[in-house]
Amino acid sequence: MIHSIDKKDLHIGISACLIGEKVRFDASNKPSNFCIKELGQHVTYKSFCPEVAVGLPIPRPTIRQIKTDNLISVARPDGTGDVTEALSAYGKKVASMTKHLSGYVFCAKSPSCGMERVKVYSPEGNALASDGIGAFAKEIMLANPSLPCEENGRLNDPLIRENFVARIYAYKHWQNLVASGLTKHKLTTFHSQYKYTVMSHDLVAYKKLGQLLASADMSLELMAETYIAGLMAALKIKATRKMHANTLAHIQGYFSKHLKSNERQELCQQIDAYRKGLIPLFAPLTLIKHYLLQYPKDYLSKQAYLSPYPDELRLRYAY
Ligand code: SF4
Repeated sequence: MIHSIDKKDLHIGISACLIGEKVRFDASNKPSNFCIKELGQHVTYKSFCPEVAVGLPIPRPTIRQIKTDNLISVARPDGTGDVTEALSAYGKKVASMTKHLSGYVFCAKSPSCGMERVKVYSPEGNALASDGIGAFAKEIMLANPSLPCEENGRLNDPLIRENFVARIYAYKHWQNLVASGLTKHKLTTFHSQYKYTVMSHDLVAYKKLGQLLASADMSLELMAETYIAGLMAALKIKATRKMHANTLAHIQGYFSKHLKSNERQELCQQIDAYRKGLIPLFAPLTLIKHYLLQYPKDYLSKQAYLSPYPDELRLRYAY
């Protein structure tokens, strides 16, 4: 099973305030219910507060991103106490020490931890735009563009939440594969296990990844590097109801000849009801898994799409 990864082996980086540590400028925290009560049951967090790590006290004066002549600095509103370099250096250090992380949850809007849309001000204190990236977060993401990253606020969206968790587990599966010693055969098997997953996100990417694995004149190292970058980019694309319904129909086609006519009809109706938004993805998938128990298909049972993460997270009940 793809998701049978022990909690102690699945390490996720997180902004310390999101798991209750009172490290914010006002000595408060910003607990994320989903991160603590749900995802936290299945992963081990490694928490970081970059502002405290670079020596800022708790409590402390607020800091913000300030743009001067196209240069962004992170400092107090009056421009004093510039910690830009210190935050970047700490981000680089953490990135180099945490290659084993399988994901990262950043605290939204923070000048240090924000993943995107951080407010940027002029030296005079006027809000210029909301297009900054936290100075610490930027280094973490730059060092490993394939690392699944999200922000606490965005995780309230069921689709984004599901997408993030699925990427974490896929990436960990990949990390385990690399750690076991990568071969062309293992890479091809991995790709075949993700066929329906990729298909539900991006059909073009699925074909391109297949073509990549068929290239003859490429080293295994380069192929693996290009493959995981392509896979993680494809999985970032939101899987729509239409794409899921299309994927479910492909799965049905794979074993429909084994189904009795009433079973085939029931599955078609469920896929259609899902496509129309009448039932969640969980419903047709449960029926497919039920039929797979009756009519086992090894190739399908190994598909990450059917069990991308622990069922207890109930992520496919909401859309
Ligand atoms: S620097 Fe990051 S971890 Fe620390 S309080 Fe701010 S958002 Fe939270």
